[in-house]
Amino acid sequence: MHYVGKELNEECAVFGIWGHEKAAKLAYYGLHSMQHRGQEGAGIAATDGKVIYDHKGLGLVNDVFDNEKLDALDKGFAAIGHVRYSTQGGNIYANVQPLVFRSQKDSLSIAHNGNLVNAHKLKGELEERGSIFQTTSDTEVIAHLIKRDYADNFLESVKHALSIIKGAYALTMLTEHQMIAALDPHGLRPLSLGKLGDAWVVASETCAFDLIGAKYVRDVKPGEVIVIDNEGLHSDFFTTRTEPAICSMEYIYFSRPDSNIQGVNVHAARKNLGRMLAQEAPVEADVITGVPDSSISAAIGYAEATGISYELGMIKNRYVGRTFIQPSQELREQGVKMKLSAVRAIVEGKRVVMVDDSIVRGTTSRRIVGMLREAGALEVHVRISSPPITHPCFYGIDTSTSSELIASTHSVEEIREMIGADSLVYLSTEGMQKAIGRDPAMKNCGQCMACFTGKYPTEIYPDTVLPHEKESLV
Ligand code: SF4
Repeated sequence: MHYVGKELNEECAVFGIWGHEKAAKLAYYGLHSMQHRGQEGAGIAATDGKVIYDHKGLGLVNDVFDNEKLDALDKGFAAIGHVRYSTQGGNIYANVQPLVFRSQKDSLSIAHNGNLVNAHKLKGELEERGSIFQTTSDTEVIAHLIKRDYADNFLESVKHALSIIKGAYALTMLTEHQMIAALDPHGLRPLSLGKLGDAWVVASETCAFDLIGAKYVRDVKPGEVIVIDNEGLHSDFFTTRTEPAICSMEYIYFSRPDSNIQGVNVHAARKNLGRMLAQEAPVEADVITGVPDSSISAAIGYAEATGISYELGMIKNRYVGRTFIQPSQELREQGVKMKLSAVRAIVEGKRVVMVDDSIVRGTTSRRIVGMLREAGALEVHVRISSPPITHPCFYGIDTSTSSELIASTHSVEEIREMIGADSLVYLSTEGMQKAIGRDPAMKNCGQCMACFTGKYPTEIYPDTVLPHEKESLV
């Protein structure tokens, strides 16, 4: 989720609906509710059973679609959609999804959230066998694998392709005859199934269901392929070797507070993270404040647990440009200043606890601590509702390389000094697991914590390409 001055960005969201006469319009609303997961591109592919129609473009959902464009798509009964985040400018239109592959037999459109760790290797193999790629997106690799083995049994071909790819993938696919939803064997990214009347809906986050009035049915399971067609819904698995490892950062930072991920509400999880942080790292203070927007729930939890009042010590100016399109460090710092302000009336003469969900490079934290001091705070104690991020993410989150992650090269005390705080404490890994509250009977509570621990749930190949490196391959 891209919040104020944050240096950590989600890659995408997917949506799909089958069996509704307003499928494309509902996809538009569903994507709109998940705009926080990607603001660089959006697209919808829809079908009437004969043809796949699609429209996509760079920018926000509202920029890409207007009534006319939606009306052109809204002549079928099924649609899939995608919003996308990318880290660099340049020619990224080709990578905007859903990708549509047309052939004489039938068409296939794919929308993908996540990142494959063996895409580079598979692409090389496919190229040697004659495949030609138009994008730098992993998704095209998936399509080639499906199409290559597409004999008479489409589902078997999909299952075969999914058993070859490795990494994170929450997928929606659409042909003229079927919609498919699939999740990787670790379920690294969220994907939920819902119903709107007789229509089936899938979405990266349940907030999309709420917006269109759909009812949550269940989460798609790791290793599951769900096929929806005119016969109804059919569930299958492409592997039995599953090991749940949902991304912890979905709870900590990325997802919308009103979404539920695998039975856990995101706002409630964040409040628990704040409460746990207060238990692990209490401090004498006058006010608690949270960095808008993603840290507010944790700050409220911290305040509740300590009895110190939560105040709006910082506010966000919502009407400025997005900092992440400005590449230099200098501009990034300026961007933070434009987007956040400390509230002097709240913090002046006070000992302030500033709760944030994470520190990536440290630039944002340093600016925020500075702003609070400039506004008259006597002391600034920084509390982070997650453990230090020491390792890059290979599963679709735009974390930097290790050398750019401040916690991979500096101790907590060194970071405290660099950001200018009076004290700095991160939440422990155990505290994080406990606070999120997933089933403790599962190994690692079924959570990926690799960016905190370096223990990746999948194999990482020597030529694995980080999400943000892909764009530069264009
Ligand atoms: S490495 Fe971190 S950000 Fe990436 S999937 Fe795992 S927990 Fe999420």
